Parts: sequence; structure tokens; C-alpha cells
Amino acid sequence: MAIDIGTLELRSLSLLFTFILLLLSTLSCTGEHQLEKAYLLPWSTPEGDYKLQPVHIKTMSSQYEVSGPAADVYLGNDISNRGFIGDKARPRLNSGKGLFVPLDVESSMSLVIYAHMERLKSFDRQMGMAKNLRWPRQVGLQTEFVDSDGAVETNNAIYLYELDSVAFFPMELKALPMAINGAVLAHEHFHSHFNAFNLRQVESGSSYEEFNEAVILRGWNEGLADFYAYVYTGQSDFISLSIPDDDTRALNVQPLVIRPGKNLQAVFNRYMNAGKNRIPKERRRGRVLSCLSYPLGTQIAVFLYHMSNLGDVGSDLADKHSVLKLVMDRLSSYEGVLAQNVGPLAPTDILEFIFEDKSLLSQAQLDLLEKTVLRDSELVQPSEWIGAYPCER
Ligand SMILES: [Zn+2]
Repeated sequence: MAIDIGTLELRSLSLLFTFILLLLSTLSCTGEHQLEKAYLLPWSTPEGDYKLQPVHIKTMSSQYEVSGPAADVYLGNDISNRGFIGDKARPRLNSGKGLFVPLDVESSMSLVIYAHMERLKSFDRQMGMAKNLRWPRQVGLQTEFVDSDGAVETNNAIYLYELDSVAFFPMELKALPMAINGAVLAHEHFHSHFNAFNLRQVESGSSYEEFNEAVILRGWNEGLADFYAYVYTGQSDFISLSIPDDDTRALNVQPLVIRPGKNLQAVFNRYMNAGKNRIPKERRRGRVLSCLSYPLGTQIAVFLYHMSNLGDVGSDLADKHSVLKLVMDRLSSYEGVLAQNVGPLAPTDILEFIFEDKSLLSQAQLDLLEKTVLRDSELVQPSEWIGAYPCER
């Protein structure tokens, strides 16, 4: 009997909670609906062209401050070791017939960033990745940085590891500003996900730790960031929109060979030792970054691009979203191995770990894996490779 009363009470309680939840969800829908506003912004068409079009933003608390649960956007602010200093961006707007029109480029760019961050938050939720990060994300626009030679940095964007924030430098090229290029924002945003793996543990400075960090982890970080940006936007050649001279980062090219770890390490040592007494270490590291880490990243991104287009229809790896999900799920379980200081890492070992379950792969995906991953027995001489490599980016 007591059990029956309990059941009855539980039922009434659950009915009451259902009613409250329904009421709350109705209220929150109404709230979000009230916040939703349309802005006339430069935005990519499905064909990849950028045009002014109405873009809806749903969660910004007020149209006069670019801030909400997805991001806080700062315009021209200084940075301290705790983050951006001062007020968030306050766009100048004209309104008419329910459509807000930004009155200057910077207002436009700050709203584009928020609109993408709102969509990236939904995308991360859909991919099961949103919980790894702190929200709202912090993004700076027209942020001034001075490089080691005293020059102001331009035409680039950066993820600031220590602050877990993204910053866009002023743009001077006559091309699509990076802050409007949603794929560039997605690329930088992805670095926060890789950072959440907490892999930067170079402490003793032994040569293989430096190699792991500078080449393997950086290469995977950059490659996955490009692949993530492709999955989010559907654009496979987005860097050249903002840097017309850079044609080395497109993903829709023929698959590239991924070198075994020993080969990469030999080339890394060659770069780090050449001119050791004349060339500052920072500059030698810069050469490693542009000659090894970024190219390795592109090789990985191109491989994943092809993997995501070669799956059997209806299979577990039939599209780009499922490939990204598998990579992130596998890497999060691999992080302990990546962070251990056990010896030099090999990019191909990591690939084989990710795609270990061959039953998920179509024949075309298996063939690609076989063709892309070179074995140690297929090593070429570092001098031969350095000569052939597109080092200048
Ligand atoms: Zn990057």
C-alpha cells in the first residue's frame, strides 16, 4: 500500500515537474525568440561566396554589446595576463524593418564573429565537444601585437594558449578579412579543443620531447584545426580567400604521403642543428614550424578530407561529421599516451590508432590509409626530402 501511495506521489510529482519544465522551456523559447535579431552581414553563401545577407543572432543579450553565452567580443582592447582589458565591442547600428545594419566595418566584423561563435557552440554540442571548453569564449578583434622585431603583427589570427582566447590582428591585405572568414575563426577556435587535451608537457627539453611538441603535436593540432574548419563550413580551400598567395593549405588536392616518425625526426634534427652557432634558436624553430609542422598538418587534413568523402553510404564513417567525431573520441582516449614522455611519436602510429577498427572503413578508405601511411622501411634521405619540400609558405 505504502508503495502504491509512493508511486502515486511520484507520478504526481513527475507530472508537476513535467509541467514546470514545459513552462520553463516555453519561457526560455520566448526569451530566446525575443533576443533573436537579424543583422545585415557579410556571410558565406552555400557556394562559398561572401555576400551581404540577413544573419540571425539568437543569444546576444543586447544588440548594443557583442556579448552573450557564446562569446565576448572585444574590439581593439589591450590584453593583460588575465585576458582582454576593458569593455566589449559596442556595434554602431542602424535599424529598419527588423533588420539591423552595421554602420562600419568593425561593427560588422564583431557581429560576424558572434554569429559564428553561436553556430560553433551548437556545432560543438552536436559533436559532443562543447563540454570541454569554458563558455562564453573570449575573442579579440583588431588586437595589436608587437613581434620580437618591434613590428605590429597584421594579417593573421592567433589562439593564445595561456589565456584560452582568440585574437585577430589588423588586416592590411586586399582580401577577405580573417575575422569575416568563418573557417579561420573555426580553425583558431579548434586550438582550444586541442589545448583541452592538455598535451603541452615539455619539461626536460630532451630532443625527442622538443620534436614531439614542435612537430608531431603541433602538426596534428594545425591539421585537425583545418579539418574541423572544413567540417564546420564545408569549405575545403579557405585560407587562400584571406591570403591569396597561400595555395599550400587547400584540402581538396591529391592525397599526400605522411612520413614516418623517424624520417620526420631526422629532418627536425637537421633543421635544428644547421647554423646552430649563428642562427638564434627561435628562428630555427620558426623554420621547423613552416617546413615541418604546418606541412605535416596539411598532409593530415588532406588525408581526413579524403577519408570523409570515401565512406560507404550508410556506414559509420560515411561523412565528414562522423570522421571528425571518431578522431576526437579516439584522441581523447589516446591523450595519456600522447602526453607520456616515452620516446618520439610517429604521426602514422596516431593515424593507425584512430582508424584501428577496420570494420568501420570502406574499401576505398582502407586503400587510402594503406597508400598514405609510409613505413620506416620507405624512408628517404633527409637531404633529398629537404630539397623537395615546399618550405617557404
Ligand atoms: Zn593554427
